[in-house]
Amino acid sequence: MKTVTLAKKKEKLPLSHHPWVFSGAIAEKGEAAPGEIVRVVTSEDKFIAYGHLGSRAQVAMHLLEWDERAVVDGAWFTKKIHDAVARRTPLRERADTDAVRLIYSESDLLPGLIVDQYTDVLVVMILTPGMDALRQVIIDALISAVSPKAIYERSDAHAAKAEGMTAHEGLLYGALPPEIVIHENGRKFICDVAEGQKTGFFLDQRENRRIAASFTQGRTLDCFCYTGGFSMSMASRAASMTVVDSSAAALDILKKNAGLNGLSLPDENIITANAFEYLRGVKKDSFDTIVLDPPKLAPSRSAVPKALRAYKDVNLSAMKCLSPGGMLITFSCSGGVSREEFRTVISWAAKDAHREVQFIHALSQAEDHPVRASFPESEYLTGEVCRVI
Ligand code: SAH
Repeated sequence: MKTVTLAKKKEKLPLSHHPWVFSGAIAEKGEAAPGEIVRVVTSEDKFIAYGHLGSRAQVAMHLLEWDERAVVDGAWFTKKIHDAVARRTPLRERADTDAVRLIYSESDLLPGLIVDQYTDVLVVMILTPGMDALRQVIIDALISAVSPKAIYERSDAHAAKAEGMTAHEGLLYGALPPEIVIHENGRKFICDVAEGQKTGFFLDQRENRRIAASFTQGRTLDCFCYTGGFSMSMASRAASMTVVDSSAAALDILKKNAGLNGLSLPDENIITANAFEYLRGVKKDSFDTIVLDPPKLAPSRSAVPKALRAYKDVNLSAMKCLSPGGMLITFSCSGGVSREEFRTVISWAAKDAHREVQFIHALSQAEDHPVRASFPESEYLTGEVCRVI
């Protein structure tokens, strides 16, 4: 196994089990090639960890194992995959839910690998050259751990490009059923793993959808609704439900989901639009509950200032159309935006809207997207249930 030596003073994070090593932290990597498993040592040649060497991305290495005696081979990866699946047993045994993130990359000690289970279909995202080289090991381990009917790959084109890899999409194993209908908290959703966004569904909001339902009152608006994750949960408590998304394809599925869940949504309440513009045009006092779940507005830390302005704008518009005492359930899925920053943005919006805001309930990502203590970057979803007085 080849050795990679870190630069002096760049050893603290890797020694504290942070799994990322940036290119600037590497002093010497010799002949090691992208995707190889390497031994990582301090400038004084002391063992730190085994890791996967990347290619040209900013994160040059993903650390895997800090025990020098471990043998990081196919059996090691197979065990880690089985362990991650086993940790989800209570969730997978729930009678009302059959869609679960089985593997969440660094948080499950498998950097570069994401696996979502939608009933008996698995969707895999491979994000690093190291995991790319292990494709067959991953497939075999998933088959032995969960006996799926199909495994479909949806590797992210953007991440693949950053690593100099080709993004793969398509069937890795078995055959896809003509339609996948998942259950979440007892609601039914069509999940299009081939054409849908990300892996087909946003599993990280599972718990938040249940909580949002408990705060729903009156005329309800679900902005950035995708296929209706929130609206299907909230509709039974709402006097009316309006949904907005820019994706006509997502709204087509939402209509089918409404049918599957026995909800009648009039066509005029299903709005294909830019939600930022739509909200600016809504009259004062039009809604009693609003959900805002925009896509990631800050893809990197440097994009945060601009994103904060966009979060402020959209929250301000939403507050203006809420009735006094209305509920705003608002999210940021930008990892670079902290809860403190997000609350500050909400306070700016409240000030400009001449409203008072109470933070009622802090929301985060669902349990199958755990935040790893040694890797704060694994926390990305911040939400607040707010009462807007
Ligand atoms: N709330 C959804 C997930 C939202 S993901 C759920 O529970 O499943 C973000 C959504 O925002 C996507 O559906 C995307 O199509 C939509 N979107 C992106 N930009 C938008 C814009 N400017 N206006 C409206 N929708 C937008």
